[in-house]
Amino acid sequence: MTCRFCGKKILNTLVDLGMSPLCESFIASDDLNSMEPFYPLHAYVCESCFLVQLDEFVSPEHIFTEYAYFSSYSDAWLKHAEKYVSLVVDRFGLNQNSHIVEVASNDGYLLQYFIAREIPVLGIEPARNVAEVAIKKGVPTRMDFFGETTARRLAAEGMSADLLLGNNVLAQVPDINDFVKGMKILLKPQGVITMEFPHLVRLMEGNQFDTIYHEHFSYFSFYTVEKIFAAHKLTLFDVEELPTHGGSLRIYAKHDEDQTKGLCQGVNEIKAQEETFGINRLATYSDFGEQVKDTKRKLLDFLISARRQGQKIVGYGAPGKGNTLLNYCGIRTDFLDYTVDRNPYKQGKFLPGTHIPIFGPDRIKETRPDYLLILPWNFKDEVMDQMAYIREWGGKFVVPIPEVRIYP
Ligand SMILES: [Zn+2]
Repeated sequence: MTCRFCGKKILNTLVDLGMSPLCESFIASDDLNSMEPFYPLHAYVCESCFLVQLDEFVSPEHIFTEYAYFSSYSDAWLKHAEKYVSLVVDRFGLNQNSHIVEVASNDGYLLQYFIAREIPVLGIEPARNVAEVAIKKGVPTRMDFFGETTARRLAAEGMSADLLLGNNVLAQVPDINDFVKGMKILLKPQGVITMEFPHLVRLMEGNQFDTIYHEHFSYFSFYTVEKIFAAHKLTLFDVEELPTHGGSLRIYAKHDEDQTKGLCQGVNEIKAQEETFGINRLATYSDFGEQVKDTKRKLLDFLISARRQGQKIVGYGAPGKGNTLLNYCGIRTDFLDYTVDRNPYKQGKFLPGTHIPIFGPDRIKETRPDYLLILPWNFKDEVMDQMAYIREWGGKFVVPIPEVRIYP
């Protein structure tokens, strides 16, 4: 295996999570008895550029043709998008003459806030079913993967971006050099790129191994992303830390040639933080695997003892991270009776690998479980608000990551 950024041979394991199915391949009841493909879920770290990455077993075309993730089903995520739009509009003086392009625009959850301000937008979204929802909502969207070819095609049509953004997409790009090269092409001379991605430092510190899945080929530090952008003559001039997805970075990039923007203090702060963490020392990465095994044992300890005491445990949510967690820990209906999800696309289906059934949230009122295991722990506050009524019958919340915590 060679590094998808720098091309060097990769020999070092970050963590081996065993064999796992694709985490967004929900199973319909008709298919419960069919064979289900499992692939190695094994994260490596490149000792040259320190990019953490998985081998590519399944093409993005396969993963994203029909995608079950609709951003608009999360209230917290919508609020996050709205706040971002107001921030960048003010900071970069965006107006009716600006052009905004979002890569992996999903169902238009974010671009709708630019449209509300009458700022022209274009979304690029490969998943047909998701893109169709955006188009129906009136968000101009192209069904396509992004990279050099798409960027050149758009540029030939006279398109260029004052603001080019991509949230939680960088991880899903198999050819990262092609993707960033495309961004360089589509960006106006004084335009700005912003991208958000989960911060590798938070993943490792916070034990967030469940955010590793086949659909996410890469896991980033500022250290490595800066190298990748620099290789394509793009400068990171600012960065913010965000609480989303367990701790993310939002980077701001410009053309190397653009002299109109100075380097912000945040860049030095993140660099210092990562230096202290040991981001460019191989030893930093070598203990993670043991830490993950220990987290699994602690979660199983809790589940086994609760079930032995006759208590009922169900899940909340059917996110990708839940499927990594449940498959790695071997948690099936022997521990979780079922899970619930607000997304109607997932209701009536079964989780990949573990075949735990997915219902609508009302099922919880009917069955009154003792524990609700929150799989999308990054939204735990939102979930605990929505589901506060389980306390009426003494129900408690359980958060599995960074380690088992019970919230009465
Ligand atoms: Zn590398």
